[in-house]
Amino acid sequence: MAKNKILIAGNWKMNKTGAEAKALCAEIVAGLAGQDKVDVTVCPTFTALESAASALAGSKVVLGAQNVYVKADGAYTGEISTGMLLAAGCKAVILGHSERRQYFGETDAFINEKALVAVKAGLTPIVCVGETLAEREAGKTLEVVTTQVTGTLKGMTADDAKNLVVAYEPVWAIGTGKVATPAMAQEVHAAIRALLVKQFGAAGNGVRILYGGSMKPDNASELLDQPDIDGGLIGGASLKAKSFLELVTIAQSKGISGHHCCCCR
Ligand code: PEP
Repeated sequence: MAKNKILIAGNWKMNKTGAEAKALCAEIVAGLAGQDKVDVTVCPTFTALESAASALAGSKVVLGAQNVYVKADGAYTGEISTGMLLAAGCKAVILGHSERRQYFGETDAFINEKALVAVKAGLTPIVCVGETLAEREAGKTLEVVTTQVTGTLKGMTADDAKNLVVAYEPVWAIGTGKVATPAMAQEVHAAIRALLVKQFGAAGNGVRILYGGSMKPDNASELLDQPDIDGGLIGGASLKAKSFLELVTIAQSKGISGHHCCCCR
């Protein structure tokens, strides 16, 4: 079966002011110059979304956020709604990143609520799952990831799946420089693919599954060669145009142009 169109998504985490985001987006747009073999998304912090949107205007780079709340408006101090993200120019949102699970106590059930609200609003949820080092060492990787995938995607339909991205991010590989071997990552991606097909039927094959965890220009090629790795969610290497664009160039060299959802082009 043909692979899905590769998506390279940058998670900027709590980095970059509005002005810095604008400058980085401008460099990325200039560096991409018309390429369309690979879909590209960048996810700045909330305060930088609007300036990033202005720098991305007219390009195919998709703007994403790093979180969203489930309510439309009201007395929820510090939170932000899907409507606000859409108005700021977002088409995607990262949900359930391990840092949100670890530092802010987000559970699969809460991430599931957010994912359902996001798809309903027309935002592409990039739902993150992944095991800790202790869980891997205890031989529980597939069990943990299965629980996370089924819990966070509960109630989603095959129609919703057309606008869904899953990111497998082993927690022990995030920001540590330790990358999962291509075989280790593929094993988990294949298990996630099977769960997606079980839930969504054929539409599950079209859901892009990104690998995240110290993906860099020097290790991306082999990871992207794996049959169920449809792209990367990139932290550190997305903060500089050079390394981010290098990753896009490596993805382009794979020459794959299959499925793409309406919001991730
Ligand atoms: C991430 O946090 O989503 C991530 C993959 O980070 P890094 O690439 O820095 O490991």
